[in-house]
Amino acid sequence: MHVSYGVPLAPLTTLGIGGPAASLAELHDPAEFPDFVQEVRHCTAPPVCLGEGSNVLVGDRGCALPVLRIATRGIRVLGAADDGRVLVEVQAGHPLWELVETLIAEGLAGMEMLAGIPGTTGATPVQNVGAYGQEVSDTLRSVEVWDWELGRRVTLDAAECALGHRTSMFKKSRRWTVLTLLFALRRAELSGPVTYRSVADELDVPLGSQVPPAEAAQAVLAVRRRKGMVLDSCENDRRSIGSVFFSPEVGDPMASKLRDLGAPVAHFPDGSTRVTASWLIRQAGFALNTSLTRGVRISSVHYTLVADDGASAAGFREAVDIVLRQVLDRTGVLLAPEIDFIGD
Ligand SMILES: Cc1cc2nc3c(=O)[nH]c(=O)nc-3n(C[C@H](O)[C@H](O)[C@H](O)COP(=O)(O)OP(=O)(O)OC[C@H]3O[C@@H](n4cnc5c(N)ncnc54)[C@H](O)[C@@H]3O)c2cc1C
Repeated sequence: MHVSYGVPLAPLTTLGIGGPAASLAELHDPAEFPDFVQEVRHCTAPPVCLGEGSNVLVGDRGCALPVLRIATRGIRVLGAADDGRVLVEVQAGHPLWELVETLIAEGLAGMEMLAGIPGTTGATPVQNVGAYGQEVSDTLRSVEVWDWELGRRVTLDAAECALGHRTSMFKKSRRWTVLTLLFALRRAELSGPVTYRSVADELDVPLGSQVPPAEAAQAVLAVRRRKGMVLDSCENDRRSIGSVFFSPEVGDPMASKLRDLGAPVAHFPDGSTRVTASWLIRQAGFALNTSLTRGVRISSVHYTLVADDGASAAGFREAVDIVLRQVLDRTGVLLAPEIDFIGD
């Protein structure tokens, strides 16, 4: 395992912001994880995990805690479980987009709507990654983690991970490092139902239709590319973390008021009804490309924040506050940031 010191973290994140890590260990071989545990045995707090850095804002002064960059790879189709679902084991560092492609090629359905989401598979339970009607909680069966409090490996059922709307117990505590994941997929020729209008329109099918998973994934990718929600699909808005805010939950009266205004309001598997943050940002009067702080602006294709040259973590946080305040003033809805903050 390779450990380096004083490594700039900015290039290891999609926002490209932030100072150095006091130490950075890169884990490529799962068998080397015990070496890392040895390396950090004197630390009083769990280390910081980093996947592809597509959902983090690193502080300008960097990170004093050891950082573990998880780059392990591997997908194993294990066979059928009792309920007929096919179990697939994935190493935490494996890119999610590659997993989605592999599953589609294997004729396995259940994750096709997650096409185009950047990041590692190990980070997916952290905020119960989801898009276009599917969430990791739909297919995740269990995770093998290192529990820094107990000092040993533990297998947790998905139900124990407290997966909710873009949240889980991993989002609230660094106690656990996800090492491997077990998913249960359907062997099926058709995707889950298409529940988003934009995807249905792209496919030219009615809402609720089921289509071959590869077609569903292509349609999702096309919709995402138009919004700059696939990394590198939009050179001008490359430095992004996707959505900066959670889609806030709204009660029934507010939901129907927002629907009347044309807002995209959707129901989620946890029973919540939510309006997209991007719609609220637009409604609050922000135009595409609006500059917020030095090097931080609204994307040129979607109502989210992106970074340019000169951006800093302090400036990004200030930009988040500017958006938050204006959305609250103009729409009455309080947004909450979805990003994970690393370091100071
Ligand atoms: C263009 C774009 C579009 C996006 N679209 C979506 C979307 O549609 N839906 C969605 O849900 N998200 C989306 N995201 C957010 C992001 O892709 C996900 O949150 C992704 O899971 C982050 O993976 P990562 O490997 O980059 O994690 P990182 O950003 O490196 O880390 C994110 C968090 O997870 C922790 N972490 C990482 N790996 C582990 C591990 N092995 N064990 C324990 N903790 C770990 C980190 O400490 C950190 O707190 C988007 C981001 C971008 C840039």
